[in-house]
Amino acid sequence: AADREKVNSVAKIKVVVRKRPLNKKELAKNEEDIIETLSNSLVVHETKLKVDLTEYMEKHEFVFDAVLNEEVSNDEVYRETVEPIVPIIFQRTKATCFAYGQTGSGKTYTMKPLPLKASRDILRLMHHTYRNQGFQLFVSFFEIYGGKLFDLLSDRKKLCMREDGKQQVCIVGLQEYRVSDVETIKELIEKGSATRSTGTTGANEESSRSHAILQLAIKKSVDGKPPRVVGKLSFIDLAGSERGADTTDNDKQTRMEGAEINKSLLALKECIRALDNDQGHIPFRGSKLTEVLRDSFMGNSRTVMISCISPSSGSCEHTLNTLRYADRVK
Ligand code: ADP
Ligand code: MG
Repeated sequence: AADREKVNSVAKIKVVVRKRPLNKKELAKNEEDIIETLSNSLVVHETKLKVDLTEYMEKHEFVFDAVLNEEVSNDEVYRETVEPIVPIIFQRTKATCFAYGQTGSGKTYTMKPLPLKASRDILRLMHHTYRNQGFQLFVSFFEIYGGKLFDLLSDRKKLCMREDGKQQVCIVGLQEYRVSDVETIKELIEKGSATRSTGTTGANEESSRSHAILQLAIKKSVDGKPPRVVGKLSFIDLAGSERGADTTDNDKQTRMEGAEINKSLLALKECIRALDNDQGHIPFRGSKLTEVLRDSFMGNSRTVMISCISPSSGSCEHTLNTLRYADRVK
């Protein structure tokens, strides 16, 4: 009962915004910081033009569970977002942390350190609080690109998904590594991240069109049977949100990828919203992303959305889109 309480004390959905500092390119273009932050709210100062071409300011205010400004470190991001959900994955809970935002807003910078910090805490719990209880930690890392799955720990081997009778998602052939030390996990994260960002052409362009999914699964073996999943923590570095708008591009491939990204981000939003009303139908069939995450949207699950934004005037429109998306998820 105490364990149930522990789970119930963690909010089902938490929406956090992270603002990065202005970068060199933006500074060189004399772009201004238009984002004013408070502890859990922010104001976007948008410059607009009247018909007579004089400028005026429009303010857009948003309130979230937390707003992390440009001075907040990755450690603090971890403490605010993932740290509180780590203990409850030992209590049969599935939790997911997303990074959403336009390309260059800081998604990868934000997401990459989180699984390592989380596994450090998971291993600590396994070795102390849950000592000798037979828990095991597994890592897998794959991406969804153009609606298809590729294993990032296995030379981008193409994977397929199926559902077992118990509505559990199974990704056939996905490499899962059992890990018991932080150093090995670090190597796996590095390996998968490198495979992702180089992709097939070596251009960073590719990673903005794919969703990267790193999963930490806690399993337990009872009576000598094969280990079964107890809880799962998924980290998802989403495709650049602006890519969903690539639906009128001249290139057919780009158009199709844009349509898939658009579909998946819309479906994701609907699935997260459905988490809030327990009995509600969860529209996970809307896209590959949400199908893969199906078991993380069912039952007693937890979601943290980190919306990454650029502070610059030049990104105003994308930033407003990101904040509106985050606002709808809450
Ligand atoms: P995305 O994954 O959303 O495309 P990145 O995470 O690659 O964006 O970030 C773009 C650039 O901005 C990178 O060079 C990254 O190091 C830098 N950056 C992002 N967020 C921060 C931050 N909070 N503090 C300092 N630099 C950051
Ligand atoms: Mg990235």
